[in-house]
Amino acid sequence: MHRFQVKGGRLWAEGVSVDRLAKAHGTPLYVYSRGTLVDHYRRLDAALGGVPHMVCYAVKANSNLAVLAALAREGSGFDIVSGGELYRVLKAGGDPARCTFAGVGKTREEIEFAIRKGICCFVAESEAELQEIDRAARGLRRRAPVAVRVNPDVAAGGHQKITTGTYENKFGVAFEGVAELYARAARMRGLAIRGVQMHIGSQITAPEPFVAAMRKMAPLVRELKAAHGIDFFSIGGGVGIVYDPALASGMAEWWEDREMPLTIDDYARAVIAETGGLGVQVQVEPGRLIAGNAGILVARVLYVKRTGSKRFVIVDAAMNDLIRPALYGSFHEIVPVRQLRSGASDPEWVATDVVGPVCESGDAFCHDRLMPDLRAGDLVAFLSAGAYGFAMASNYNARPRPAEVLVDGRKSRVVRRRESRADLVRGECR
Ligand SMILES: *Cc1c(COP(=O)(O)O)cnc(C)c1O
Repeated sequence: MHRFQVKGGRLWAEGVSVDRLAKAHGTPLYVYSRGTLVDHYRRLDAALGGVPHMVCYAVKANSNLAVLAALAREGSGFDIVSGGELYRVLKAGGDPARCTFAGVGKTREEIEFAIRKGICCFVAESEAELQEIDRAARGLRRRAPVAVRVNPDVAAGGHQKITTGTYENKFGVAFEGVAELYARAARMRGLAIRGVQMHIGSQITAPEPFVAAMRKMAPLVRELKAAHGIDFFSIGGGVGIVYDPALASGMAEWWEDREMPLTIDDYARAVIAETGGLGVQVQVEPGRLIAGNAGILVARVLYVKRTGSKRFVIVDAAMNDLIRPALYGSFHEIVPVRQLRSGASDPEWVATDVVGPVCESGDAFCHDRLMPDLRAGDLVAFLSAGAYGFAMASNYNARPRPAEVLVDGRKSRVVRRRESRADLVRGECR
């Protein structure tokens, strides 16, 4: 569910026309819906009401201060993967005591920063890291709260680069040796063992992989609770969203391609069923589920050209602004911001490649997609760009990053100004 709707031939973000925002702030432009963000958080929090729980929004999906502040005001916790993300959460008014710190390569400096700020828990991914956290904590005369990320060896996730829960990838500690690792960690005087964590992948649109992983983990959770008194089990993030409504509605040619939404209620029901009897707090770390459908990227058509049989629509947004299609082959629905050529009740559909100006063949948002007959000057919106959109943007090709706007009802405000050319060289010298 989101609050970007076509009404009266125009695309609206809540109560603000996207057209107007593009005119006021230029393109490319990220537009977020505060109502959608908060609604996703509240619905997940409420659906998990049957078990002691904490929702830790995965900051890496979208770390804009206004996004974090909106969630902090709702009481959200945060899952961070760097000292920089902790800094952002603190700047946004988030509570460090509700932050969990994940990632395979935390530096000593990041560990000390997080200990000083009093985070809820480190999620360690190796014995060597536990030893480093132990040393850092003893150096500060503190005890660092820790959990270990366990790899349950369950395949899940929409793409090879976003599956994380099998032994083929770098994440977590192999399931088999975990109990012994906790026993060794218990002897490290700088550590306080608090919980156990898993995170099996991203863009998962069925409950089965979560259920399989939780079932595999449940006996371990019980064992660790008895042996070390752990008080939470984090099941990570990874709940997928619908990017392609055609796949979700069953128009896909192959049922395997269907992208059925995993609803918040179905997910929560499975979580409660599998973890309700464990007697520990359940933590979830959703990123995409909260932010994905809460944002769009708006771009303007610069040129239309034909080469051979191909029709290219060149827009002013590129892979540096939204890299998911180039990096993962991901689908984003692309819609005109205004119904085109009023009067044409049945617009002509043409096979189109929508591409950006970056000098890479990979800089394409779609290939041969049937789209309305776009022309230079038209505005288009890439939907579901709220997660892993701006957060992954770069200055490649010396392109300033877009502005970000947050809409709240009929109000909107710039929550990150468009970068200038001077920003491009800030910090450099010749
Ligand atoms: C990326 C990540 C998440 C969030 O993943 P989503 O698919 O966006 O929900 C949660 N936990 C950890 C440890 C992550 O690395």
